[in-house]
Amino acid sequence: MPHANLKTSEPVADEVKTTTCYMCACRCGIRVHLKDGRVRYIDGNPQHPVNKGVICAKGSAGIKQHYSPARLRKPLLRVGERGAGEFREIEWEEALGIATQWLGDIRARNPDELAFFTGRDQSQALTGWWAQQFGTVNYAAHGGFCSVNMAAAGMYSIGGSFWEFGEPDWERTKYLLMFGVAEDHDSNPIKLGLGKLKGRGAKIVAINPVRTGYAAIADEWIGIRPGTDGLFVGALIRELLLHDRIDFDYLVKYTNAHYLVVRNPGAADDGLFARDAKGNPLCWDTRSRGARAASEIDIAPAIAGEFTLPDGGKATPAFQLLAQRFLAGEYAAENVAAQCGVDAATIRRVAAELADTAFNQEISLPQRWTDSHGREHAQMIGRPVAMHAMRGISAHANGFHTCRMLHVLQMLLGAIDTPGSFRYQPPYPKAVPPANRPGKSRKDDGTLNGAPLGYVHAPEDLVVDAQGAPRRIDKAFSWEFPLAAHGMLQSVIRNAWAGDPYRIDTLFLFMANMGWNSAMNTTQTRQMLCDKSADGAYKIPHLIYVDAYWSETVNFADLVLPDTTYLERYDCISLLDRPISDADGASDAIRQPVCAPDRDVRPFQDVLLDLGSRLKLPGLVDAGGAARYPGGYAQYMVEHERAPGVGLLAGWRGRDGDKSGVGEPNPAQLDAYKTHQCHWEAKVPDAGRYYKMANRDYLAWAKSLGFVASTEAIVLELYSERLQKFRLAAQGHGAQQPPARERARVEKYFDPLPFFYTADAAAAYPLSAITQRPMFMYHAWGSQNAWLRQIAARNYLYLHPDTAAAYGIGDGDWVWVESAHARIRVPAKLHAGTAPGVVWTWNAIGKREGAWKLSADAPEYTKGFLLNHVIDDLLPPRDGYRYANADPVTGQAAWFDLRVRLSRDAQAALAANAVELAS
Ligand code: SF4
Repeated sequence: MPHANLKTSEPVADEVKTTTCYMCACRCGIRVHLKDGRVRYIDGNPQHPVNKGVICAKGSAGIKQHYSPARLRKPLLRVGERGAGEFREIEWEEALGIATQWLGDIRARNPDELAFFTGRDQSQALTGWWAQQFGTVNYAAHGGFCSVNMAAAGMYSIGGSFWEFGEPDWERTKYLLMFGVAEDHDSNPIKLGLGKLKGRGAKIVAINPVRTGYAAIADEWIGIRPGTDGLFVGALIRELLLHDRIDFDYLVKYTNAHYLVVRNPGAADDGLFARDAKGNPLCWDTRSRGARAASEIDIAPAIAGEFTLPDGGKATPAFQLLAQRFLAGEYAAENVAAQCGVDAATIRRVAAELADTAFNQEISLPQRWTDSHGREHAQMIGRPVAMHAMRGISAHANGFHTCRMLHVLQMLLGAIDTPGSFRYQPPYPKAVPPANRPGKSRKDDGTLNGAPLGYVHAPEDLVVDAQGAPRRIDKAFSWEFPLAAHGMLQSVIRNAWAGDPYRIDTLFLFMANMGWNSAMNTTQTRQMLCDKSADGAYKIPHLIYVDAYWSETVNFADLVLPDTTYLERYDCISLLDRPISDADGASDAIRQPVCAPDRDVRPFQDVLLDLGSRLKLPGLVDAGGAARYPGGYAQYMVEHERAPGVGLLAGWRGRDGDKSGVGEPNPAQLDAYKTHQCHWEAKVPDAGRYYKMANRDYLAWAKSLGFVASTEAIVLELYSERLQKFRLAAQGHGAQQPPARERARVEKYFDPLPFFYTADAAAAYPLSAITQRPMFMYHAWGSQNAWLRQIAARNYLYLHPDTAAAYGIGDGDWVWVESAHARIRVPAKLHAGTAPGVVWTWNAIGKREGAWKLSADAPEYTKGFLLNHVIDDLLPPRDGYRYANADPVTGQAAWFDLRVRLSRDAQAALAANAVELAS
């Protein structure tokens, strides 16, 4: 027995701790296996509701993130010029003293001189609150350059959206349309879900210019041209209308399709809903032949026609206006085909398949339920078609209306929160839009009157001055970008540099790699950070940067505060922030430190609370001026109440830990989470699982947990009266009107019905250029990870062989990619899974030399590249003014509107990347 002593299952660890992954934004449950206090192995937690034990390449490579050579080790103070990377290490006391001095001066003078912006921050419930207590309006996280169009269009249409707000009914969907899904978004949950669909033989259709990742396993790939998804969806809507494949019963029960819209051109009420004396929207009841409150249930509402109101005015049901728009030839399949790159027969077939699945394969669940109006339903009827969408349709200047159009398509099919369709994830649905407006005025104690981010309901909510000019440094919530629900991080550096609309003192960035992959026009952005006024002072006087790693942005900071890794701190995955629920249950979670830092670093959340107490911010000190949370974030997570009984964590509340959602702080709450493997879940009652927007049992359950304020039905908005109010303001009505420069723009883009428009495309730049996120990497973090770098350490410019042939480009050639703004030299690779007329690459693999502690000859430096260099952050001048390159409704960065041309590089032998700005 020569191998008798061979141990084939040697324990890898002497301890296993549960916590929550942070290698991407999915926040899966993980088990960290430790030996002698060091991380040896990470696997998925089978008990966790998000991933049910599944771990991905990124998650298991967390060990290399945790021990990355690029980790910052100690606070740093700049000693050389900005950008030179010359620092001296300092003690925390000195670092916090400097920060307190800078921030204290600002708060005494004008809190808006602090611009506090965070990147892929998973503690926005804290960071946003801290900004509010500081009193600055200038706060946001990364949503403005990520997918705010998706979120905002959903919240202004259905009170929810995709990913963290809702999901396909993975158990029952028979047909899934997937638009522009980035493969690092909703990573493991989507993989699990797609696996279920494949197992059941459901059809998956991927609409995406690039066939990778999820699109690669789809049953059908539709290689659409970037930015034309709205035309495609509009054509589907038209086909459904033409063939009368609309769920009218659903529309009049759950949407505002039957609401009467006043037709009174030029008047202040044109386009608003006709209302009764109590303010209730009216519909036309075909039984009584009169106007009745639209929410009544013993009526037969008209959805088409023109009717005379009691006051003699004329009105038309919203549905008719929608039908008129989409029945126009503009959305005819044969008219959109060339622009979309999708033939008319395919569009018609997809529409027919949607209709067949929705109406001929209807699902009926034997589950009794009661709607908000008290109607009893013996069954839950389902339309088993589901949609899912992400950044691909969002990151365009037309993204808001495209995303809204997609929700209208869902409404027409009766496919929102029914068995087999899209399902809300608690705490969604919320009111359309949610009640919280952005804070904009300061109270006597200097705090803001609301969180800096929120939902603008009407022109009065805009964050503008008396002249209607922007009050935020990023111009979010101004007449330029009124519904900028996530702020506009991508505009901060340029505006602060230009002093437009004003100068700030300190730019405070957390986890936002604005010196590289989180900025458009990357080269000039770095120059702006280094630019000085005539007096020799930097135009942005102070820059505090917080990160765990030596990213490209570190070198541009004056003061660097080193964060821990995600395995060394407490964190809170809060329902007040970006939830991790699924459709059948509300969930939240914590991170716990699984090992102690071996460097002089501190959790940023602890540092923020410490800074707040040093600054004596209200809520951060007690009546005697002592720190209210000396125990740091762990103490805050347990003791802080946002409203009476409502805190960051919903589980095990109440003094004895026996309450959920609402209850007094429980000193033993974190222990309870640890005992339950760091997560909590509350199941939706059976009778509340579907039709959540109008389900009495669901809404009562949601109210008991503090998710909604009332149990009244949430009406889905096919027609947006809120958008019309902005349009009326632009037409000269109301107390708050846009400045002259913005009028035509607001009037055009604040259409109450979704519509398609396209960015101007110069003929000289005939190709669309986009980026994709690899499934195995999450932004710049993942692409410095030793294990993940073995999968890919360089990127290429991918293009279809036909496109390559048209430019005389061969596989592996070096080519110039040129936009109107700049050009870069990159290696090309042929890829049949790319739509003709499109080029693309993986984002964030290319790195700046010297960053991330990679070796000097690392492929990421020498051959990898960043497409951002050729994306301008501004649009071309219009009447002498240059708007941000963003959606005019929400301010979402329009990264994917990039147009380029290619040329083969004659000096291919140089074989290294290069960047040149247009003169
Ligand atoms: S999907 Fe994201 S959160 Fe989940 S294991 Fe992978 S990296 Fe971690």
